[in-house]
This record gives sequence, C-alpha cells and structure tokens, in this order.
Amino acid sequence: MNTLPKLTGAKRVLVIGGGAAGLLAAGRAAELGAQVILLERMEAPGKKLLITGKGRCNITNTAPLKEFLAAFGPNGRFLYGAFHRFFRDQLLDFFRRRGVETESERGGRVFPVSHNAADVVNALVSHAREHGAEIRPNSRVRSIDRDSRGIRGVKLESGEFIPAEAVILAAGGASYPATGSAGDGFSLAEKAGHRINPLYPALVPLVIKEIGFAVACQGVALKNIRLTAFACEKASIPDITIEHDYGRGTGWEKPPPKVIESRFGEMLFTHFGIGGPITLLMSQAVARALDAGPVSVHIDLKPALSKKELDARLQREFAAYPRRQLPAILRELLPEKMVEVVAGISGIPLGRTAANFTAGDRRDLVKLLKGLAFEVRSTLPLGAAMVTAGGVELAEIDPKTMASKLVPGLYLAGEVLDLDADTGGFNLQAAFSTGWVAGEAAAKTASVDHA
Ligand SMILES: Cc1cc2nc3c(=O)[nH]c(=O)nc-3n(C[C@H](O)[C@H](O)[C@H](O)COP(=O)(O)OP(=O)(O)OC[C@H]3O[C@@H](n4cnc5c(N)ncnc54)[C@H](O)[C@@H]3O)c2cc1C
Repeated sequence: MNTLPKLTGAKRVLVIGGGAAGLLAAGRAAELGAQVILLERMEAPGKKLLITGKGRCNITNTAPLKEFLAAFGPNGRFLYGAFHRFFRDQLLDFFRRRGVETESERGGRVFPVSHNAADVVNALVSHAREHGAEIRPNSRVRSIDRDSRGIRGVKLESGEFIPAEAVILAAGGASYPATGSAGDGFSLAEKAGHRINPLYPALVPLVIKEIGFAVACQGVALKNIRLTAFACEKASIPDITIEHDYGRGTGWEKPPPKVIESRFGEMLFTHFGIGGPITLLMSQAVARALDAGPVSVHIDLKPALSKKELDARLQREFAAYPRRQLPAILRELLPEKMVEVVAGISGIPLGRTAANFTAGDRRDLVKLLKGLAFEVRSTLPLGAAMVTAGGVELAEIDPKTMASKLVPGLYLAGEVLDLDADTGGFNLQAAFSTGWVAGEAAAKTASVDHA
C-alpha cells in the first residue's frame, strides 16, 4: 500500500515500543521518508509477539468485518477508520511480500504456515530497517516532552533527550510484564494529558472459592458444556436454563437478569479455578462485574438435554441398572476425576442404589449436572492476562490517524488504547492496523514543522 508520496526534507518520528504496533508504525513512517528511531526498552523488539499463539502467532482472523469489530465489543466501532485504510488483506499481503505465507485454521485463525512467530517479528524488523528506521534496544522512554505547541521529543531513562517532530506511543498494555509491556504506555499517555480508563485483565483464568474442588479436578477439560457467569452469590443463581451464548461477539446483546455472559464450548479445571477457551472469553466481563459485587459461575454439564430429558435418561438407566450406587451412576455422566468430588457435594449418600433413589434425589442430581456452581474469588492478576482491557480514552484519539486530539504531534497505537478483543487474532490485527495508520500520519506530521 504505497499510495502516499515520499516526504522531502524528512523530520524525525520517534516510536515508543517495538511490538506489533510500533514495529509496523516505524516501518511505514520510514517507508514514507520520515527519519525514524524506534525506542525499545528490552534488549530486542517483539518479545511479546514471539509468545503469541503459543509461539505460532495468530496474526489475524478471517471473520467478516462486522463480526471482526463485534469481537471488540462497543469500542470496536473506533477501528472502522484504521481497518478501512489497512485491514486483513493488506496485512496478509504485507507478510506475503516478505516471504511469510499464512494459512487459516478452526475459528478463522490465521497463522504463518511455518508456525513460527519469529518469522513475523523478522518480517516486521526487516521492513523497518530496509526503509532506514533505526531500532534502539535497551532504550526505555521515561517521559514525552511537549510544550504548548505540541511534541518536542522524549527523554530516556538514561537522561538522554531525543528531539522529534512526532512521537508514536506504542508501548502496549500491562500484561506479561516480562515481555516489556509493563504499563509504561499508560503512565506516559496520562502524563501527556490523556485520560486512562480503568484497567482490567482480559483473556485470563478465574480463581474460585471452592479450591478443593478445583484441585481435585485439576487438568480435567470439559468439552461441549455451557459456562454461565452470574452477578450474584452462588445461592442466588436464578433457576433458569440458558440456550444461547451471551457476551460480546455473540450477537445476543441482552442476557437474562443477573447473567453476565454465557458461552458453549470447552473449559478446563486448574489448581486454582477454571480456565480454557470459554472461561478466557468471559473473563473481561467477569473482572468488571467483580468490581461491582459477587460473581458466581455455573456449568451446565449436559446442555444438549433439558432437565426433563436428563431426568428421563436417569430413570431409564436406573431401571436398567437398579443396583448401581451413586459413584457408578456418575461415572456414566462425568469424567472419572470428577466423580468422587461431585458425589461428595451432591448430598446423596454414596451407597444409595439406583433402585432406592427418591424423586428428590433425582431432582438434586439433575440440578447439579445442569448447574454445577462455584463462587468466583477473582481473576488472575493483570500481569497474567493475555490482554489489558481499558486504557487511553478513545474519544481523545482521531480514529482515522491515531493522532492525539490533545497533543499535536502525538500518535497512539496498539494495546495502550482502550481496545481489547476475544482470542482469535483480533488483538494483533488491531495493533497492526492502528500502527500502520499512525506511522503514515506521523510521517505526514513530521513533514510539517509545527514549531
Ligand atoms: C501469551 C500471549 C499470547 C497472545 N497471543 C495472541 C495471538 O495469538 N493473537 C493475537 O491477536 N493476540 C495475542 N495476544 C495479544 C497481543 O500479543 C497484544 O495485543 C499485542 O502484542 C499488542 O501489541 P502492541 O504493539 O500494542 O504491544 P506489545 O506487543 O506489548 O509491544 C509493546 C512494546 O513496547 C515496549 N515498551 C514498553 N514500555 C516502553 C518504554 N517505556 N520505552 C520503550 N519501550 C517500551 C515493550 O517492551 C514492548 O516491546 C497474546 C498475548 C499474550 C500475552
């Protein structure tokens, strides 16, 4: 996408952060003729990129634009402008031209054919260097300097001042701080005058109060179940059967009372609680709800059957095997590791045979299987989350250029913005697209002397 003319009399663009957004911004600004220096606090750029998609880097998704934007919730609207300029086709073309072929998998996830995130980082770094951008590792930015007319430059932790006509802040979020994204972006933006919306962990496992249960079932993956989060204590969970997914990107906007989100799919017990794909998807909404009050989750272990159908199935099995005791009955319905612990919380005597089950026992068992409930203590902390929700208020950013509306010459891109999406490659596409347009716009700004 080389449609913009090269600049003459190039001025300097500084990029803070060598992640997905910063590397592409630096390359694009340099391509357009700006003198670019990318400042990266770690010893090398792209540390987080290297661990994305379990080292395979899920760079984007094949979902149609409407679904793509829905994966970000209401803030997704902000991305129209950037996606209009640089979206999936342009991104895939960018990588293809640099020898990174891609393929799509289940759920529309797009990965490099090599399954190697290092290929993505190398392509981004070589694009930036090819066009003359300088990448300076071990260069942590401490402050962005501005005066009443706008950007003056940045100050490094070492005390060095680097003057510039434009600065692109692409320092990422506050999750996985060992990769370098430790929240500096938020404090730098705040000091520059921007509002930072509250930060929450997103795509993160949940800690439950029933630790004994979690430990006993650690490692059990449950497939084809429905997980629902409620804004109440366990004892107040309403007696309802949920048949649709609720939550962002699901198309069902208004959940029933007390329901935060509900999703069908796969989850996992861990030694502290629950994780796995559908838990991660609802974790951001749960994190926000926990701020307001108690949160519980329940698992419908048999979502394909109504309570009545499940009761009928039990009755058939009880008639066929009248001497079976509770653990043997549960063994037909649950993974082995869950049998003892579920039997323990059922309230039904372990030695009771099927022939001696009362209608009340059956009702209790159906209730348990259709709504195995836990109280959520917390999410894992922000540092352990895959993505940081919250961040720089989008109303203060021009969605077409990523320019700060408050500080002339400042641009912001990537996870530092108040944007986060579901898993599936959406977050990286947002970082790449906002980085690209920020690079273009900053290069243009840098050609105009605003001093
Ligand atoms: C384990 C894991 C797996 C993930 N997998 C995927 C996936 O497969 N697909 C997907 O779409 N998303 C994935 N994500 C999310 C995705 O990685 C991020 O949304 C994306 O990297 C954000 O890009 P960014 O450029 O804004 O920030 P980052 O990639 O975090 O880059 C920010 C950079 O800024 C640097 N920096 C920070 N402060 C300073 C400073 N003061 N001075 C100089 N440099 C600074 C950091 O060192 C870092 O290199 C994953 C995240 C994690 C943690």
